[in-house]
Amino acid sequence: MEKEYDVVIVGGGVIGSALLYAISSFTDIKSVLLLEKYGDLATLNSNSNSNSQTLHWGDVETNYTIEKAKRARDASRRLLGFASKLDKEERDYIVQKCQKMVLATNEREVELLERTYSDAFRELFPGAKFIGREELARVEPNTMKGRDPDDKVAAILSDSGYMVDFGALAHAMVKRAQTVGGKTVDVLFNSEVLSVETGSGGSVVRTRNDTYRAGFVDIAAGMHTLVFAKAAGYAKDMAALAVGGNFYTSRRVLNGKVYRVQIGGIPFVTVHGDPDIRNKGITRFGPTVSLAARLERYTPGTRSAFMKALSPSIQTFAGMNRAFVKDKDMWRIMKDNALYLTPLIGKRAFLEREVRRIVPSMGIDDIKFGKGIGGVRMQAIDVKKRGLILGEMQIIGRENIIFNLTPSPGATMCLTMAVEDAKRIASALDREFHADRCAAELGVPA
Ligand SMILES: Cc1cc2nc3c(=O)[nH]c(=O)nc-3n(C[C@H](O)[C@H](O)[C@H](O)COP(=O)(O)OP(=O)(O)OC[C@H]3O[C@@H](n4cnc5c(N)ncnc54)[C@H](O)[C@@H]3O)c2cc1C
Repeated sequence: MEKEYDVVIVGGGVIGSALLYAISSFTDIKSVLLLEKYGDLATLNSNSNSNSQTLHWGDVETNYTIEKAKRARDASRRLLGFASKLDKEERDYIVQKCQKMVLATNEREVELLERTYSDAFRELFPGAKFIGREELARVEPNTMKGRDPDDKVAAILSDSGYMVDFGALAHAMVKRAQTVGGKTVDVLFNSEVLSVETGSGGSVVRTRNDTYRAGFVDIAAGMHTLVFAKAAGYAKDMAALAVGGNFYTSRRVLNGKVYRVQIGGIPFVTVHGDPDIRNKGITRFGPTVSLAARLERYTPGTRSAFMKALSPSIQTFAGMNRAFVKDKDMWRIMKDNALYLTPLIGKRAFLEREVRRIVPSMGIDDIKFGKGIGGVRMQAIDVKKRGLILGEMQIIGRENIIFNLTPSPGATMCLTMAVEDAKRIASALDREFHADRCAAELGVPA
């Protein structure tokens, strides 16, 4: 028998979970269903093992425009607003304040950092401080120990560093959604969505055992979203690569998060050092960049889905050639990362080219490969323009359907994306979105 819901969400990562919470809390939509393929929420990229656990506030991301930095800051504030309503024990499990900086270690990077620290930046982030060698040695001593005294160094020290367990956050948001009274808020696990057919009278969502009718469908299936979009006839000019990210770990050598200067136009975040919210004794270094021929890191069965997302064609390969081979900085990154994967010499190369840029005194025996750490990011290519697609990606379908392709800066944006989607969905279904309730709960106007 077909079951009917106002809204069906596909995918129980941090994005789908945030959407379930936003729809149930801030709209008068009466019934919403979340379908998750696996037996729990957030087992893929949103899991704390898969990502860097950073709340991207916008103040250490040197490749952001001021507008993007402001959007990241507001998204971060929304997330903290949600957490502030939880009881202390749960809140402290999900979000923790930590020191955070962006470190420049050569002349080119110091110049870029100086340009970043503009009047507009200081107005947006009044608590961020430009610091030099002495202050660095005081707040993050291992970044200076053993460093060549002739190296040009500087940093922007943030006053808004947080680490987040986005998987635990997904659980908290779903729990909160299910406490809203007077509505049907259902979550079904082990319910892989096999197809979605859209039509003017509503959509039909099929799993292996059940069929659901929905007034609106929001696909938040992470890396799988593009496959759904293509099946529905969207994103014809988009191809996607799956980019794996590995981490190395060491004993705890850094007080907080140490990001490195990010060059504009490069989609892969530069290797950085982070504490681990679930294991206080270690520092993680990563992520690396490796091309993965699957959509889920540990599921080889997702190779055929990867081929659908890649959509191989002459144009796709021409686009890849232009983006990865012809661009000088990108080609260097691809070459370096290929080297890091090479048995025997890869670990040393990673130590010398990446880890020592952050902690110069690290030795080869101080780091080890972080088994089971790291997820897969999507890198989209515009095959027509033969270039990379950077930043947030969302496809608003014609017939009450949204495709949320994993956005950048990722999990940090979950509540902002959710609020925007909830507003759009309420309007499409002729229901109310309560902006006042949303602003009061999350602390940032909707
Ligand atoms: C190495 C790395 C580091 C990162 N670091 C950060 C960081 O520091 N800060 C940050 O903000 N972001 C970071 N990100 C990005 C962030 O992890 C992602 O943007 C975010 O987790 C995406 O959430 P999601 O819900 O879209 O996807 P996912 O977490 O992948 O969830 C998608 C869900 O959909 C389900 N699903 C898929 N197909 C189906 C189907 N057919 N039917 C039903 N369910 C389905 C999956 O099982 C999964 O539960 C990082 C990512 C990586 C890979």
